[in-house]
Amino acid sequence: MLVLVINSGSSSLKYQVRDVEAGSVLAEGLVEKIGMGTGGEGDGEIEGPRDHAEALEQVDAEIHAALGDRELDAVGHRVVHGGERFAEPVLINNEITRAIERLNPLAPLHNPANVLGIRAISKKWPDMPQVAVFDTAFHRTLPEHAWRYAVPEELYANHGIRRYGFHGTSHEYVAHRAAALLDVPLEEFDAVIAHLGNGASVTAIRGGQSVDTSMGFTPLEGLVMGTRSGDLDPSILVFLGRAGWSPEDLDAMLNRQSGLKGLAGNNDMRSVVEAAEAGDARAAMALAVASYRLAKYIGGYHVAVGGAKALVFTAGIGENSHQFRGLVAERLGALGVLLDDGLNRERSKEPRVISTASSAIPVLVVPTDEERAIAEATAAVVAHPASVAP
Ligand code: AMP
Repeated sequence: MLVLVINSGSSSLKYQVRDVEAGSVLAEGLVEKIGMGTGGEGDGEIEGPRDHAEALEQVDAEIHAALGDRELDAVGHRVVHGGERFAEPVLINNEITRAIERLNPLAPLHNPANVLGIRAISKKWPDMPQVAVFDTAFHRTLPEHAWRYAVPEELYANHGIRRYGFHGTSHEYVAHRAAALLDVPLEEFDAVIAHLGNGASVTAIRGGQSVDTSMGFTPLEGLVMGTRSGDLDPSILVFLGRAGWSPEDLDAMLNRQSGLKGLAGNNDMRSVVEAAEAGDARAAMALAVASYRLAKYIGGYHVAVGGAKALVFTAGIGENSHQFRGLVAERLGALGVLLDDGLNRERSKEPRVISTASSAIPVLVVPTDEERAIAEATAAVVAHPASVAP
């Protein structure tokens, strides 16, 4: 089955065409600057597409050669917010599209863009089966004690203020692969998975299911990220609000100027590690804050899962930065975690164990592949639509 995987942002459209049975990628690309016009007058910058429909025309032209005489069978959309309703991928119809749209207030930057992508496909290919794969869905198994904030009930009842969790597609995919690597049935897999990319979250897996995760109402909660603060005392916002900061100022500060960027002046982990190795004290401090925060979560989630049988690193930093993995592992001595330095430094695209034989908890690196997971989920829903009704 040929699946077009779409990750639609407000001004960008990332895509991949995958042959699900062969596990291969036929085409991939990114259309940017949607709806942004030219960058300036007469400066020779290429004009971006006017809207998502025009961006899709560009995608269609780009994938044409790769498809040859084959045709797309389905489209899978990465949808950021599935709210409390969606615990599984779902075949899209008008009602589902409206339901995703109703969740816009919970993900104002993402869900409207996802809906634009869905509508652009419906218009261009009215008969194409489309499937929504939600970033929140895997975390619908969180117990109430993990998803509640200790705030007045009406905030949950009237505004949906609770913890949802994100990166679910990646955590679920990595959980499956890690369990398979260790030859443990998924239903018996208890682990902590750290997805460390520009956005970062850590998930507690018990019996193959998510029982806690570090992102909450939005993807801001939890770990120190590239430009996001992660956890802080909410009174800081009250304090700054009283000092005249607007909601937009606070949003920009927390989401775009904080994290590694706020601490070290650079949001890219590779650069921060290099700077720290060259003696930059701010970079070293940023790594210490980020690794300490993650180690605290891992300790907490070790308890949440009743004793993790694996610690798994994934995504850009988790897969590639042996230095950051090393810093985190150093702080986990109390759990008996011991990395094998040689295995930790090895570069590979394969899932692998990087701990010593005597480590109390095996430590794994498992590359994530959200597009593959979305393509496989899409193919499964299209093959058996009735069995996965929400
Ligand atoms: P992602 O969002 O998953 O693409 O991850 C992006 C993050 O991964 C950035 O902070 C990159 O600096 C980091 N990253 C990618 N490759 C490496 C590498 N070889 N060493 C350290 N960090 C890396």
